[in-house]
Amino acid sequence: MTTTAGAPGDGSRAPVPPGTGWPEDPATAATPVAHDAAQVRELAVGAPTLHELVARQSVCRACPRLVDWREEVARVRRRSFATERYWGRPIPGWGDDEPEIVIVGLAPAAHGGNRTGRVFTGDRSGDFLFASLYRCGLADRPVSITAGDGQRLRHARMVAAVRCAPPANKPTPAERDTCAPWLAEEFRRIEPYARVAVCLGGFAWQALWPVLRQTGFVLPPRRPSFGHGAEVELTRPGPGRKPLLMLGCYHPSQQNTFTGRVTPAMLDTIFRRARQYSGLGDPDPARSAPPVAPPSPA
Ligand code: SF4
Repeated sequence: MTTTAGAPGDGSRAPVPPGTGWPEDPATAATPVAHDAAQVRELAVGAPTLHELVARQSVCRACPRLVDWREEVARVRRRSFATERYWGRPIPGWGDDEPEIVIVGLAPAAHGGNRTGRVFTGDRSGDFLFASLYRCGLADRPVSITAGDGQRLRHARMVAAVRCAPPANKPTPAERDTCAPWLAEEFRRIEPYARVAVCLGGFAWQALWPVLRQTGFVLPPRRPSFGHGAEVELTRPGPGRKPLLMLGCYHPSQQNTFTGRVTPAMLDTIFRRARQYSGLGDPDPARSAPPVAPPSPA
């Protein structure tokens, strides 16, 4: 069997070059690359389409520490994925181009999104999250295994505040700020359709706040505290426009799910609330079966 260069099974330890056959790769060899914060701003604002914006996100090299880390992880790999090629690039926004619900996360996982090329895909957190999205009628399948697996979001889009996997899952404030234009510009383009922004964790809650201000939302003088189920209804710019609901949700990290701080029922309550506020109604009850065990290795 032949394997396309750049495909998940080709065995190379190099990050996937853009446009070489990786499923769902939005970029090509001609996609412009940002090498510093100023270029991130310029390329984000200047992207002619949402597709070109995510393509530019997926080749960005503006944060030297994160570029080194994501590529080092792709070279060394975890033993359970030793024969797999890693994506090793930034993880662009993914999902519906006109979403009622925007799901904001922190950053991709080193052996999850950084391996599979899709946000929240290929790790325990993603397994937990996608199972809930499926039960709540926002994803076609109960698991998201890797880019190109046929999974699809409905009415929802996922974005990360920082697009590269950071060491210890902790981006620096400078890295967060450098990456912010990718989030701001993506949010600006999907905001006309969005009714709810679900923030997975306090970092996402904080990171979205200045983006909302830049987009013209009327914000209270102080940012309300993050919490699971916390809600802030925000008035939009422009006459006659419906408000946006900012909705807090504990992050489905392994630490939170193993300790029971976040349960499947808690996630389902959040996404059902997001559906209800967005006018999407209740999900198909046939999907409300008990959650299946997550399939990915730890
Ligand atoms: S974190 Fe964001 S700005 Fe930094 S290299 Fe990755 S995509 Fe670029």
